[in-house]
Amino acid sequence: MRLDRTDPLAALLLRSPIGALVDWAARVRASVQRKLLVAFLLITLLFIGMAAFSLLTMRGMTRQSELLDRAHQRLEWSQQIHHSLAMQMHLTAMALLVRDEAAIGSILRENNRFNEALARLEEAVEQPERAVIQKVRAGQEEAMAVVADIANLVRDSKIEAATRVHSTREDPLYRSIDALVSQMVQQEDARMVRLRDGMRAARERSLVVLGGFAAIAVLLALAAGFVISWMLIRPLSAAHGLLNELSSGRFGGSVKVPNNDELGELAVQLSATSRELARLDAEQRRAAQELAALNAKLQQTSVAKSEFLANMSHELRTPLNAILGFTEMLTDGLYGAVPGDFREPLADIQTNGRHLLRLINDVLDLSKIEAGRMELSLGEYSAEEVVNTVRASLRSLAEEKALEFRVELDAGLPEIMLGDAKRITQCLLNLAGNALKFTKRGRVTIRAERQGDFVHYSVADTGIGIPPEQLEAVFTEFRQLDATITREFGGTGLGLSITKKFVEMHGGRIWVESRLSEGSTFHFTIPLKSEMASTV
Ligand code: ADP
Repeated sequence: MRLDRTDPLAALLLRSPIGALVDWAARVRASVQRKLLVAFLLITLLFIGMAAFSLLTMRGMTRQSELLDRAHQRLEWSQQIHHSLAMQMHLTAMALLVRDEAAIGSILRENNRFNEALARLEEAVEQPERAVIQKVRAGQEEAMAVVADIANLVRDSKIEAATRVHSTREDPLYRSIDALVSQMVQQEDARMVRLRDGMRAARERSLVVLGGFAAIAVLLALAAGFVISWMLIRPLSAAHGLLNELSSGRFGGSVKVPNNDELGELAVQLSATSRELARLDAEQRRAAQELAALNAKLQQTSVAKSEFLANMSHELRTPLNAILGFTEMLTDGLYGAVPGDFREPLADIQTNGRHLLRLINDVLDLSKIEAGRMELSLGEYSAEEVVNTVRASLRSLAEEKALEFRVELDAGLPEIMLGDAKRITQCLLNLAGNALKFTKRGRVTIRAERQGDFVHYSVADTGIGIPPEQLEAVFTEFRQLDATITREFGGTGLGLSITKKFVEMHGGRIWVESRLSEGSTFHFTIPLKSEMASTV
């Protein structure tokens, strides 16, 4: 079940009085654990009650069936008495018919059986029935006396007198006993029917009561389960709703639940957190606005700075070019022979002047790029020409340092490509210049090859290498890795960042691989057909 969705039946029940019960359970000031324990205890008690009631019912039923058994026994005894009586009457008639005294013996045996059953019955019955039994017993004793008379008369062969005694005394006597015994049998029979009916009714009654009890127990258990579960679900779903709001960035909402337990505390804490988040959010928005305003100002300042630098470097270049020009003319002897002592300082002026010019040119390029005023002038060019130009301009430097300077051109390179040849040459010059600068012995190799829709340029050297943690930093402006090395090799710290910018303006990518003391390889790619003529 999703927490934020309530099924229609639960919603209906929550609006009914059971909903008020859920509120009540939530408001009870106790821990969730205690509430759960009480609910489980209640349900358990209900089932224990049901089990006790079932036991009681079973005991009642057992008692009833015992009574029925006894009634059955009594009916059997009274039927036996009835049977013995009938046998006695029959045997007397037989004795008269066959005139045999021996038959009388059988009557006596039957009498014994009669008395035995009568005694058992007497023990089992209550007072009113005992009176009837005593009457039967008195009648039977009298009948036995008459049977004895008849036996004497038969022995004396006075059959006629015996027959008379039989029909005048014994027969009416037996009939009256028979009437009493029949009444007893009927009574026992009726009693059994009553018992059986009572038992059936009791069974039906207990079935109804037990069913009702079970139904009520199940309903109560369901109600308790509903109350307890909704007492927990409601605050959780409210908290879930608030968390959803928070996660979608709507702060400041609160959770209101009637719970006076841990969940209530949780709701209070969540509401407080949400309020705090709202406050922080407002603060952060304010800070962001301030920051945006500051950023805009900074950007304006940065553009102004770049513009100033661009103008300044432009203005610096003109007098510097003049200085370099005149120095060169001096060195070349256009103003007459240069005294020997002047040659060295003049050469120094030239070297430093060129270095300054490079620096000014780099600063000019960088500020133009940053001011958004740098544009590529795209045109058709040949990679081979670019590479050869770079090689030609740096060959003398390589020779000076006795370094092997190699160029490797891929045969698959297209003859004509689209890009800014001047800038691509500048990039390659920067990289190859660095490679020669930072290599004392060994080799520098410039390579150009086609890779899909790109030309892949690389410059590999066997120089000092770059420590792994500095690999990314080399592309940052004014970043020179080691002051002592820089002092030794010279440089401005702008070459690589300008190269990176030009490469990216073309839609390419630049990266470096290096091993300390073993050498570095700088790579960059330029699309075969660069479309980007805009600034970075
Ligand atoms: P710089 O004018 O100082 O050479 P760059 O931007 O061209 O400025 O280079 C930045 C720094 O990167 C250099 O100062 C140097 O520390 C390091 N670097 C550049 N190329 C190489 C290379 N081929 N071998 C070792 N270090 C290099």
